[in-house]
Amino acid sequence: MFKQDQEIFNILLEAISQGVIIVDEHQVIIEVNKSAGKTFGYPKTELIGQPLNILIPKAYHTNHESHFKRFIEIGKRRKMGDETMDIFGVKKNGNTFPAKIELNPFSIYKRPYTMALINDLSEKKKIKKRLMLKNKALKSASNGIVITDNLKPDNPIIYCNPAFIKLTGYSKEEILNKNCRFLQRDDRQQEAINKLQNAIKNGERCQVTLRNYKKDGTLFWNDLHITPIKDSNGIVTNYIGILNDITNKKIIEEEKNHLATIFDESLNEIYVLDAKTLKFINANYGAQKNLEYTLEELKNMSPVDIKLEYTESQFRKELEMLDNDNVEKIEFETVHQRKSGTTYPVNVHLQRSKLGERDVYVAIILDITEQKNYTEKLEETVAKRTEELNAALAAEKNLNELKTKFLSLVSHEFKTPLSGILTSTMLLSKYQLEDQQDKRDKHIKTITDEVNYLNNILTDFLSVERLDKGSYNYKFNTFKVSKVVNEVVYSANMLLKEGQHINYPDNIDELSLHQDEKIIELALSNLVNNAIKYSEENTAIDIDVMQTKETTIFKVKDQGIGIPLKDQKNIFNRYFRAENALLSQGTGIGLNIAKDHINNLKGEIYFESTENKGSVFTIEIPNTAE
Ligand code: ADP
Repeated sequence: MFKQDQEIFNILLEAISQGVIIVDEHQVIIEVNKSAGKTFGYPKTELIGQPLNILIPKAYHTNHESHFKRFIEIGKRRKMGDETMDIFGVKKNGNTFPAKIELNPFSIYKRPYTMALINDLSEKKKIKKRLMLKNKALKSASNGIVITDNLKPDNPIIYCNPAFIKLTGYSKEEILNKNCRFLQRDDRQQEAINKLQNAIKNGERCQVTLRNYKKDGTLFWNDLHITPIKDSNGIVTNYIGILNDITNKKIIEEEKNHLATIFDESLNEIYVLDAKTLKFINANYGAQKNLEYTLEELKNMSPVDIKLEYTESQFRKELEMLDNDNVEKIEFETVHQRKSGTTYPVNVHLQRSKLGERDVYVAIILDITEQKNYTEKLEETVAKRTEELNAALAAEKNLNELKTKFLSLVSHEFKTPLSGILTSTMLLSKYQLEDQQDKRDKHIKTITDEVNYLNNILTDFLSVERLDKGSYNYKFNTFKVSKVVNEVVYSANMLLKEGQHINYPDNIDELSLHQDEKIIELALSNLVNNAIKYSEENTAIDIDVMQTKETTIFKVKDQGIGIPLKDQKNIFNRYFRAENALLSQGTGIGLNIAKDHINNLKGEIYFESTENKGSVFTIEIPNTAE
């Protein structure tokens, strides 16, 4: 009955891209188009006259029957299946496929027919499945993933995966519709940002490492890969960004770099050498600097080339200790030779290590030149100090001897005058007669002399003490030299021995001094008294005085016992008395005091003497005390 309009009908039927099947009320196929034949895998002619059931998987047959009946009864156009239920077709080869089937009931000459429009959903389903899988993958990826819409102003984020939310700490609402730059906060001065902006401007992919900040403000290093998505016209519609938090990696890297820098910049020498060949593999800056070889040169050398004291077998012997696993490291001192030939002492620390799979030794070398110098200097200082201490000890010993000498001397010095005084007083009491006055006078004089003598000794002791304390107050005045000489000679005359005489100096009347008069008198009288004391009877004592523009020189010359050569160096030491002087009274203080005073007044006192011939003592004193 369709035959009348066969041609029109055929054209229409084949023009429809969907599969078309027309069945009668018994579900017998009465017409199909090519597309339907292709979908179900039958030649067109083979399907006509067949029950519709051959195109429906067996499992759905009963259901289908009742559905179909109801559908015919209702007589309305509708889709088979719904959102939740899939409809399947079966191909000639038995394969099933998901399908979308639209049923259009119509009737001609009161007979109901149904036209089914069929779409094979296999491809769509496949794509949907793939998309779902991809979506799942995005969701479960541990990298943060964002997709931006490049067609919207400011390229906002339109998708972010859970890892991105977790990594940044922001909620989805806070992230979506924003440009990614919120992750940088104010830290905009980053070279990587420029690179990123350029790539986006040019629609290119790029990889950068950025400083980004989480919602709570903590910094994280973001290894970001962005890839543009282009449409068929080459327009970038989206960008996909993949974020990788490499903060830990970065920290480890920084630490490693830091350690490497320390290794390299260390001024200690650090070497790595191959355990088998003993050739250097690496040497740090300190090593190259001190040894004067470049790394390239060192790579062709072994420690034996810089260690003067080792042959290869000797060096290997040292290493054996390490290889036997007995010790963790070995340490020894040796000498290194620089490229220029100079040498320096070193302390070597050697230990085993691994460079990948390779067995190596690591050597840390300390240049101990300074330490050695220090030790040598220390030894020198110790030697010097010991010498000084020995000298001090000798001086102390000397002093002790002098003190002992002094004590015995003092007791002797006091004993003689005291026993003299005692004898005189005893005798005095015996001369009771009136005409014995001259005898009494003689003893009274003895007593007076001895008491004066003792008094002088005590004055000397007190002077010594005041000089030592530095509390002596000098009093300066201008006086005539002759006045002092007269005083000295006057007192000395009383001490002269039988036949001794003093030759008074010539031409001194015009001379005067601005000095401490008492001190000059004390020093000069000390010299004159000694000259008398240490000379025999019938000898002369010469006093000479000369004056230059600045200095006055007093000389006291005697023809006495002189001073033995060996004692001369000690004559000005306190309490010292020469061997040949011990028979005369004395304390060994006078010259010592005189010298201290004269030196304090910027003068000098010295002597020349020959044993048994005589001595000349000289005082040189500035004419004017400052
Ligand atoms: P003292 O005469 O009381 O012993 P001094 O200090 O005056 O002490 O002299 C120290 C020592 O110097 C004397 O003991 C003596 O050995 C020596 N001496 C000093 N003057 C002379 C001199 N004119 N001739 C020889 N020896 C002297």
